[in-house]
Amino acid sequence: MDDVSRHPVSQQLFDRARVVSPGGVNSPVRAFRAVGGSPIFMASGSGAWLTDVDGGRYVDLVGSWGPMLLGHAHPEVLSAVNEAVARGTSFGTPSEPEVLLAEEIVERTPADLVRLVSSGTEATMSAIRLARGFTARDKIVKFAGCYHGHVDALLAEAGSGVVTLGIPGTPGVPAHVTADTIVLPFNDRAAVEAAFATYGEEIACLITEAAPGNMGVVPPAPGFNGFLAEISARHGALFISDEVMTGFRVSRSGQWGVDGAVEGWRPDLVTFGKVMGGGFPAAAFGGRVDVMELLAPVGPVYQAGTLSGNPIATTAGLATLRLATPDVYARLDETSAQLQQLVGEALTAAGVKHVVQNASAESFSNMFSVFWGVDAPVTDFAGAQAQEAWRYRPFFHAMLDSGVYLPPSAFECWFLSAAHDEEALSRIAEALPGAAQAAAAATPDEWI
Ligand SMILES: *Cc1c(COP(=O)(O)O)cnc(C)c1O
Repeated sequence: MDDVSRHPVSQQLFDRARVVSPGGVNSPVRAFRAVGGSPIFMASGSGAWLTDVDGGRYVDLVGSWGPMLLGHAHPEVLSAVNEAVARGTSFGTPSEPEVLLAEEIVERTPADLVRLVSSGTEATMSAIRLARGFTARDKIVKFAGCYHGHVDALLAEAGSGVVTLGIPGTPGVPAHVTADTIVLPFNDRAAVEAAFATYGEEIACLITEAAPGNMGVVPPAPGFNGFLAEISARHGALFISDEVMTGFRVSRSGQWGVDGAVEGWRPDLVTFGKVMGGGFPAAAFGGRVDVMELLAPVGPVYQAGTLSGNPIATTAGLATLRLATPDVYARLDETSAQLQQLVGEALTAAGVKHVVQNASAESFSNMFSVFWGVDAPVTDFAGAQAQEAWRYRPFFHAMLDSGVYLPPSAFECWFLSAAHDEEALSRIAEALPGAAQAAAAATPDEWI
């Protein structure tokens, strides 16, 4: 593939970036390692579309990895931000926009109190510290394939056997840091029961993605989240629902689906990010008053941030949440249903085995991904890893060449926005048949 001739300005920037940054990127997935080739540098975005530095236009199905629920450069978000910028960009004091955003979150979500931070990683890291402080216990339970940011203790891989203590998933994390992390297979009740039977008195918290979207989209089995809440409570552990990706993306309530309401569970702590920052660095963790009031300055658990509650980021987040009306979600769901169908039809027509999977096992969710070369729904990380991810490489590049920007990894969610309209969908529909053929013709040892 000749990226230099097709994207000369992108290639020049990437060459310069690699001189000054490791791998030329500030977050690894952006480097295109999983799909081959060189990353495309984007210059601007508007609605459903991105324009690259060489003038190419793409329908964007990454949405900045989730935040851009309303599409790029939404005029009302931009004008709110511009007005806020004119008043100054950071004060290091309390300011009104952060109160308004916190009020909006508390009103919509199960959180009684929230603390604002700048990234999802900070939110989960702080929630875990708080859970350990509250329970005076050290162990935490997480699921293989769930991503909660790059928190040391959460970058653990499962050892062998069903209930094992985690081993570091990356160099640089000391073994003693993940020694208190228990990694279990997702959707596996027996494994959770065994972990609590063995370590119940020592477990501070169980953290899960409300609906995992970081191993591809794998919905919790019906009742699974309720089960997790119940077994955690029974053993005096806190249940942390990580809604950094799902929060305000799958529903207005900030909560994944209606599962909580239907099944009667509430997380003790919940984390948000992505959509609630409206494209700026803002995230939050929140929950029960008695737990949250253990945080400094009220309580002894320390947590802080120079730019936490930043007036620009909170203004963008608030504008985004206010504009995300029930109509917006209805539209998003409809567009997503159409896209899921288009993708499924194109892959079937080309004879590519696949499962298009969304974030709800029982109803419909706009958050979805495609698993390649599988016959049955994927329920855990082992299943996700067993897919024919290599089929995605030629598919991805064929779509890119036809003006559709997909996530540069088979293990990522496809993100739509409320700005995706007929024009965007028809660009995708035109690109799909050729890309599906390329996926059908792919071989595992092929590299681009
Ligand atoms: C993206 C994500 C995070 C990490 O958020 P960052 O802002 O990238 O640090 C944590 N949890 C989940 C579920 C996520 O999708």
